[in-house]
Parts: sequence; C-alpha cells; structure tokens
Amino acid sequence: MKIYNTMSKKKEEFVPLEEGKVKMYVCGPTVYNFIHIGNARPMIVFDTVRRYFEYKGYDVNFVSNFTDVDDKIIKKALEEGVSADEISRRYIAECRKDMDAMNIKPATKNPLATEEICGMVDMIQTLIDKGYAYEKNGTVYYRTRKFKDYGKLSHKNLDDLQSGGRTLLVTGEDEKEDPLDFVLWKPKKEGEPAWKSPWSEGRPGWHIECSEMSKKYLGEQIDIHAGGEDLIFPHHENEIAQSEAANGKEFARYWMHNGFLNIDNRKMSKSLGNFFTVREISEKYDLQILRFFMLSAHYRSPLNFSAELMEAAKSSLERILTAAENLKFLAGNAATGEMTDEERELYGKSQEYVDSFERAMDDDFNTADALAAVFDLVKYINTTADGTRSKEYLDSLHDRLYQLTDVLGIIIDRQEEILDDEIEEMIEKRQAARKERNFALADQIRDELLAKGIILEDTREGVKWKKA
Ligand code: AMP
Ligand code: ZN
Repeated sequence: MKIYNTMSKKKEEFVPLEEGKVKMYVCGPTVYNFIHIGNARPMIVFDTVRRYFEYKGYDVNFVSNFTDVDDKIIKKALEEGVSADEISRRYIAECRKDMDAMNIKPATKNPLATEEICGMVDMIQTLIDKGYAYEKNGTVYYRTRKFKDYGKLSHKNLDDLQSGGRTLLVTGEDEKEDPLDFVLWKPKKEGEPAWKSPWSEGRPGWHIECSEMSKKYLGEQIDIHAGGEDLIFPHHENEIAQSEAANGKEFARYWMHNGFLNIDNRKMSKSLGNFFTVREISEKYDLQILRFFMLSAHYRSPLNFSAELMEAAKSSLERILTAAENLKFLAGNAATGEMTDEERELYGKSQEYVDSFERAMDDDFNTADALAAVFDLVKYINTTADGTRSKEYLDSLHDRLYQLTDVLGIIIDRQEEILDDEIEEMIEKRQAARKERNFALADQIRDELLAKGIILEDTREGVKWKKA
C-alpha cells in the first residue's frame, strides 16, 4: 500500500509503527460557523482513508480535534453577545450533524482544545526547559532557529522565510528574538476566555493544540498526520518543531494533504459570493452526492465544484443505487435458492473488480480509479443479474457491491432500511393516537408520511402502506 508523503514528496510503502495498527490525526475545523464545503473535503477524504485501512484489517485509532478557542470564535461571540463557549458548542453540534449526513464515521476521539489546556501548558514548559521557547511579557514564543529541521515538511529555507518574515512582523511582536519565532501562549485581552499558566492568564496558540492532543491520544509518534494543503505551512511545520523538540523523536511517519476545493474555478470566498456551507448544499442535494462528488477526483488534485458537476455526480450515483435496488428486488423474487455451478463461476469472475478496486486504493487512495472499478462491477451486475438467477447469486453480488461502496462510505440501501422502520414506527404512533381519539395527531402523522411519499390505506386487515 503506497501513500504520498508530503515530507519526502514521494509515494512510499506504508509500514505501520505497530503491526496491524494505524494511529492517525486529522486537523479538524475551527468551530465559529457552519462548516463549508471546503472543510468537508478533508473530512470525506480522510474518513475514506480510515475506512480502507479498516477494510484491510487494520485497527485504526482516528483522532480529530475541534479548535474551540480562536479569534474568530471570540469575534462571533462578541457580535452575538453570547459566550465563546456557546458559539463553539453550537457549531460543534451542527458540524456533527453534517458529518453524520456525509456518513463520516465517528472518530475514536474528538478532543476539544479547551479541555486540554493543562497538557499544552506542560508541553510549553518542556519546550522552555529544553531551550526551545522563551517568555516575554506573558507571551511565550518558540525559538524557531533552534530547531535544526525547521522547514523540512514545507521544503522552505529558513533564510527565505527570514526575508519574508520581517515584513510580516506586526506591532506588539517586536519583542520577539527573531521574526521567525511563533506564539505558544498569549496573554488574554479584555473579555477573552483565559486559563491560568506560569506566564500569564491567557490561551494557547493554535499550533500547540494539535501537538498536545495528538500526543495525549495517540502517543509521541504517530503513523499519519493529515489535513488540507494550506496547513502544511506554517501549521504542520510548527507542529513538527514543537513535538519533535519536546518529545525527542520523529512526530509522524506520513504527512497527507488534500488539495483545495474551488467553486466554478475560483477560490471559494465570502467576498466573491461563491461560498457554500454543507448545510446549504444539503437543502438541494442528499449529502451522499457531495461525498460521491468529492471522491470522484484524486484527493491531492484541486477539485472544482459546480452545479453541473453535482448533477453529473447525482446521476452517476443513481446508477449504483439502481443496480443495488434491482439486486434486492430480484433476490426477493428469486425462484431458486442456491447458486448453480455456472453462477459460481460468474461470481468468481466478479473478483476482478475487487482486485482493481484494491489496486487503485493501494496506489495512494486513488478513489477516482476505485470508483471506475465500482462502475465496472455495476455493469457486470446489470448484464448478469436477471429474474432467472438464484437468490444466493444475487445476494452475493449485492454483498460484493456493498463491500466496495462501504469503503467509500457510500450507502447503497440506507433509504429502504431506515425508511421501513421509520414508517412502521409512525404508523404505530398514528394507531395509538386514533385509539385515544386524538384524530388531529393521527391526521398530522398521515400527512407527514404523505410528504415523504408514503400513502396509507386503512383496510379491514389493518393499515397498509405504499410508496407514491
Ligand atoms: P479550518 O477550519 O480553516 O482550520 O479548516 C479545517 C480543514 O478544512 C483544514 O484541514 C483545511 O485545510 C480544510 N480546508 C479549508 N478550506 C478548504 C478548501 N477550500 N478545500 C479543501 N480543504 C479546505
Ligand atoms: Zn492541527
């Protein structure tokens, strides 16, 4: 299995630190608003990476944080006249809803920065003790030049950074020993959330959060550290400087970065008016379509989002869902149970698509080619599955399709399964309401079902339902 490592700029064979296990950290969003569709890309991509490792039999410890203390959160809290805590709680809850609708598996752990301050203070203290950090007027800075490998991930040279850095110096930072030094701890300003520390009452810098949370939940060394490509510099470079100086060992073995999502070939931005939240997209499309769309390109390539491309994704996904539905229907009506010898042979041939799917995924998670293999399987299903086939054959093909689409996090049967339960439950509630002569509620439930395309029929044998 090969992974492109931003550190070496090469595809490398994946060798886990511990056999059969993967320790993976993905930088999560800053929660001051609904997540936008750009934020959804690393979520979908790295969830798929995780799912593929699990498919291959690895035990994956997947940690992804929420940055819940930040200038943007504080600004939003001031605008609304509420606490920063209220803002971050609200948007963490909303983010979880979006993640669920995109079928992102819950992480092993989603640490919150504000709950890990103690560990961050300890790590900063270690850096001071080792001479990698210093305090000035309540602020603690990292002594960048002291870390000899600085720039190794972003392939930047310290002197080039130095010349750029001078112009970046902002007022209040001239107390730094060197313009390249970055903040580990800063004192609070009036009205800001703050925690006690040996240096001042204040809060941690963004980079130290991930160094600490990764260490706490995964250990000093991890297999994979991931995020969007904008995080390579300075965020990940600074994380490396902090973690490797504090722990005295290589931080992450593989660094993975997704390319950016653009809208109509332009950078997504509020001022250009081409900014979409995941929630807005969910009003027009099932988020399964967004997930499918994101996986139709290689994760390292830039990806362009447009209405036409989403429509194309919708009809492609429809082909997979129709094939799955058809298999279920045929299996439900199959005349025979067990596979014939001929069917066994036919089924054996479909292994070819599993092999090409795995070849694509083994090559740095090439989901575009993996999807092509899924479509080849769909074509095979459509040509070999019909009313003459045994139930076992049809079910086996369905399982095979499920096995592959599940790695991509694409749900092929959810609607039916959930819907059936949901309908039965609502019918029961309606019956109970009628018993209590609460006809208003009973009618309301009937209308709700109708809105979902379900028609109820009250018959002598009881309530029957059908799809409109
Ligand atoms: P942020 O909340 O800005 O820290 O972003 C959370 C994650 O989303 C990071 O991994 C970013 O790199 C990623 N991200 C932000 N914007 C985009 C975009 N337009 N395309 C792809 N990834 C993005
Ligand atoms: Zn991070």
